[in-house]
Amino acid sequence: MSKLLFQTAQLQKCWIDCSEIFKSYYQGIVDFNFNSAVQSADKLNKFINDYESSNCNNYPDEFYNDCFIFKELANLLSSYSEYWSQVCTGAYDQSWDALQDVLDLLRTIKKFTIFDKTFLFKFLEKQALGLERLYPYKLFASTEIIVSKVECGICGNNIDSMECDHIQGELYRGKLAYGIVREIKDCIAVALVENPANKRCKMGNIDGKPIIFPCLNYLTESLLTKKVNPLFISHTEETVRRIQIKDSRIGRNEICSCGSGKKFKKCCINKDFAEKKHIEIILKKNNVLTPLDIINFT
Ligand SMILES: [Zn+2]
Ligand SMILES: [Zn+2]
Repeated sequence: MSKLLFQTAQLQKCWIDCSEIFKSYYQGIVDFNFNSAVQSADKLNKFINDYESSNCNNYPDEFYNDCFIFKELANLLSSYSEYWSQVCTGAYDQSWDALQDVLDLLRTIKKFTIFDKTFLFKFLEKQALGLERLYPYKLFASTEIIVSKVECGICGNNIDSMECDHIQGELYRGKLAYGIVREIKDCIAVALVENPANKRCKMGNIDGKPIIFPCLNYLTESLLTKKVNPLFISHTEETVRRIQIKDSRIGRNEICSCGSGKKFKKCCINKDFAEKKHIEIILKKNNVLTPLDIINFT
């Protein structure tokens, strides 16, 4: 059964023991009761933390690495339900951060499991990358710094020194090795980039105008009227539509219908046609995630 996800029999059993919690998590999402799903994810987290600390210390490394994966999964489910709860209340700015948490957790899990064979992960990754497109953030701040001291998060020594034999991003008895920057020598630049690996530093209203979330407003409405459930959303597709400008009745001072946000007189007024970017949310009624996809990693 869960052989792809966990290496030890203990954690495989834990996963099965948590079946009921997974089912109630799933039901929370299906019922649009995202807070109850968050609570189920918290239960999972508590379960694994209690389990790990109640066991003796001389298990092999795999046991602790498995515990780490389990915790990341619980965090993933927690961030995912928090994400939908925020979208439903219109807290779009925060929901972006929760979405980045989901993507980061998926990246970590991808590194240590046979990710591509697991429908749950593939489903969540495809959906999360699709949801990113619904946000109006186009630019992100990225800093270039020169660091003079990086400490290892596990042994505390300088990560580049001979005293530390940990490799960043690897797992050591359930602990992820990472560097902690203790000293910054210089900050060379803060650049604005379009597609950085880390999208947390988003630039919202660079031109001073308030940010609007038309796609997300639409999504929230569909969720609140229960026309769409998160588990039906497969991905998004970006298409370009040709719209007629000539002979249309847009006033000179109205917002141009091409979607640029500019006034018509300063935008497409002299064109016959304009191209309008259009994002489609692709829904699937079948092949949708089922509780078994969460429980059975096969
Ligand atoms: Zn170290
Ligand atoms: Zn226009």
